[in-house]
Amino acid sequence: MLHIHLRFYEELNVFIPQEFRKKRFSHTLKVQTSVKDLVESFNVPHTQVDMILVNQKQVDFSHIIKDHDDISVFPYFHRFKIEAISKISHPKPEIIRFIADNHLGNLARDLRMLGLDTLHNERFIHHELVEQANSQERILLTKDRNILKRNDLNFGYYVYANQDADQLAEVVLQFDLADKLSPLSRCLRCNAILEKIDKDKVLDRLPQRVKHTHNSFTYCPHCDKVFWKGTHIDRMTEKLDTILETMKVPNKNKPHRTQSTLRTIGGINAKRK
Ligand SMILES: [Zn+2]
Repeated sequence: MLHIHLRFYEELNVFIPQEFRKKRFSHTLKVQTSVKDLVESFNVPHTQVDMILVNQKQVDFSHIIKDHDDISVFPYFHRFKIEAISKISHPKPEIIRFIADNHLGNLARDLRMLGLDTLHNERFIHHELVEQANSQERILLTKDRNILKRNDLNFGYYVYANQDADQLAEVVLQFDLADKLSPLSRCLRCNAILEKIDKDKVLDRLPQRVKHTHNSFTYCPHCDKVFWKGTHIDRMTEKLDTILETMKVPNKNKPHRTQSTLRTIGGINAKRK
């Protein structure tokens, strides 16, 4: 029998039972186990863990727990300033790209709206999500703890927030993307890079009010949707700015008022038939 002490920090508390949250507690193990198995026995996905200290020394997941070990588990989270310390989880991929699970369609759309490369397909099942994430070095965004526990998943992130705007802000903050946004550069429907198109080429597909009020258009070479500036993204980026300001993270990419307006009304078919 091993007697240990354990504490989970910050966001990791959402995963563990109420009685263990935000405090150091004692725990008993019947058999010797790795620190990874211990962490996951508390339902904390290993992909969310950035650093583990045992008796104040950093260890990796394979560390075998000994009697009287004092264990601190820290989350993989930007706001928590532990970047300087080497990480036990997979390092972030060099280019930040995402795949959103089936339940995060709105988040996928919002990320695309800000120009962030995000794969999403409601029909993907678990092993397909993992396959696509690994083969394309994408970070799997999910609220499903079980998929994050899979050992074959390289990069995963549990989205803590529940509201769309909060989820978007969380991902932007977590992966430090505030100065990497490029609104209306990507198709909301299929994630392809948009191209500019002359107004006269899409004129007969535009709603009347858009014909008179907009002159700049882009289209998706993959699925033929046409996009124009509007007010939807204005609201979204304003909300994001508010959250980033609250978090004291400057949105270096904050669009100027007059340019911040990408609206896509879902789609007009650009292909001339
Ligand atoms: Zn498209």
